[in-house]
Amino acid sequence: MSTPENDEGGETARPADGASPTTGAGRPANGTPLLEIRDLTVHHGQLRALDHISLQVFPGEVYAIIGANGAGKSTLLRTIAGLHRPTDGSIVFDGTDVTRVRPERRAMSGIVMVPEGRRLFPSLTVEENLQVGATYARKGPWTIERVYELFAWMKDRRTQRTAQLSGGEQQSVAIGRALVANPRVLLLDELSLGLAPVVVQRVYGMLPQILATGLTVLLVEQDVSQALRVASHLQCLLEGRTTLEGRPSDVTAAEVEAAYFGLATAGYGGAGSPSPAGHGGAGSPSSAGHGGAASPSPGGDGGPGRPPVSRGGLGGIVPPEETET
Ligand code: ATP
Repeated sequence: MSTPENDEGGETARPADGASPTTGAGRPANGTPLLEIRDLTVHHGQLRALDHISLQVFPGEVYAIIGANGAGKSTLLRTIAGLHRPTDGSIVFDGTDVTRVRPERRAMSGIVMVPEGRRLFPSLTVEENLQVGATYARKGPWTIERVYELFAWMKDRRTQRTAQLSGGEQQSVAIGRALVANPRVLLLDELSLGLAPVVVQRVYGMLPQILATGLTVLLVEQDVSQALRVASHLQCLLEGRTTLEGRPSDVTAAEVEAAYFGLATAGYGGAGSPSPAGHGGAGSPSSAGHGGAASPSPGGDGGPGRPPVSRGGLGGIVPPEETET
């Protein structure tokens, strides 16, 4: 799937320093972001999982956060949903600071998450799981019936316990459970986790219909190719810091790889260059552990006039395929 924004010229990818506004062609120059993260820092005990992360998500966007294991992606989504308390920074939703607002109140205001690993109630039926999602629902277009229309197989199996469903079916129920809460911004945490590629494509294939109801999506993905297929804007995290930000059509495979792994790239001052003072993570070339995966993708020469990332051309940095359980 491509997005309309992908086909427009304009804004170039750049390393985000947390201060620059994320506006440009394809994004409203003077618009108001629906969701704004300002200088967010989150600790898990002594560990700084997020280090001054900023981003702006505009209405109708599909904003993708990519990054390797432990980059801080889930921490970011969970903090936006209210499940972690930040050490510093703020979360502004539709012009209101919600940084200290309780998770259920955030859900009622329209911030709803599909968590990593689905987190369904396995002993409950499909329909009972959907009813759970309606607990803190806003008024809006999504009802359980509407979810059944979106996922044609679901109504006939509504009395089946979710433990009996395949991974892809469970993911669909998890999405449906979030939709019946009538989100304004839908947070999707690693939809692809544990699913076969064909199932991942089917699950992501539902996005256009979901977006058509006026939703905005902020998703995190380790599967970079998949994220690039659906995103209108992307941001790469590494060790809790932003290493790259821009539109998928404006970044190259080499830049994405560098940002993902913290490698230096020729001709690009972003992911590979030393980050602002005091950080030896994202900017430092990693020496161990990357092996062949970090080698440049075909066509990504890292120099001027670099070809943009080709969808699906990032096999080297997509995690090994996992099969549906
Ligand atoms: P993954 O795809 O593996 O989930 P991620 O990019 O989502 O990676 P996070 O899950 O946000 O990364 O984790 C960021 C860092 O914070 C990691 O080092 C992780 O071990 C640590 N971490 C995450 N949750 C907790 C927690 N509840 N307690 C302690 N450390 C945590």
